[in-house]
Amino acid sequence: MRKFYVIGNLKMNMLSREEAAQYLSVLRREVQGKRYEHVTGAVCPPFLYLSQFDHLPEGIKKGAQNLFPEKSGAYTGEISPVMLKNDGVEYVIIGHSERRQHAGETNEMIREKIVAALKHHLIPIVCIGEMAAERRAEETDRILALQIQTIFAGLSKSQAEKIIVAYEPCWAIGTDVLPTTGELLQVRVMLRKMFTEMFDAQTAERIAVLYGGSVKSSFLAEVSWEAQMDGVLVGHESLFPYELVKMMGLCEEEALRQNEQSSSRIG
Ligand code: PEP
Repeated sequence: MRKFYVIGNLKMNMLSREEAAQYLSVLRREVQGKRYEHVTGAVCPPFLYLSQFDHLPEGIKKGAQNLFPEKSGAYTGEISPVMLKNDGVEYVIIGHSERRQHAGETNEMIREKIVAALKHHLIPIVCIGEMAAERRAEETDRILALQIQTIFAGLSKSQAEKIIVAYEPCWAIGTDVLPTTGELLQVRVMLRKMFTEMFDAQTAERIAVLYGGSVKSSFLAEVSWEAQMDGVLVGHESLFPYELVKMMGLCEEEALRQNEQSSSRIG
């Protein structure tokens, strides 16, 4: 059955509890009366507001933007996977390019965080993607292969299939410059091939791959299902609940269409 994800990365936005509350009340209003059977939505607010994000509308899960790969202890300023789990968090973004850039996160560190997330039953959304200079040097495939091989090294099939991968080319984040559907399709095919080689075909099918980078509802189809992606990771536009909910609605319609098509083929 076709299924999509729409994940909102609220980043370091909303400057007060009041702003966070305002966001939530608009989100609740937008979702009212809507049902999602084939879409999982999630919003990932700053840590400080996580407890305000309890009781999200049905179909929208609580996510976080990072974790530290230890249960507890002398790690000043960090947040553990157990704390997140105990606070009702279900999804966690790991290895976002902004963390690679500003906090020096490496593929090895990202792998450790994924293992910690899985151990504590959080679903990791791991970000991969090449930088602009790497793209210009035609190194996209090599960079993505290196990221995937390091991040998934030593994981079992059952661990791997729980991970959601977000392909976020760094040059597309916050720039309004997007890859073409054809380019995304190439990445999708390459990732499926890599996962098949590392694990097997069934596991490769189960690892969801999202696209992220300047996504808007107006061209959701081109960067999502037309590129065989399993949904989107949304930055800036997720600050507008109307947009996020619109994307969820479009994904729900598309999933229904695809599911009907495949059941009429079987029938
Ligand atoms: C992101 O940073 O995860 C992202 C997708 O950002 P934006 O949509 O703002 O490009």
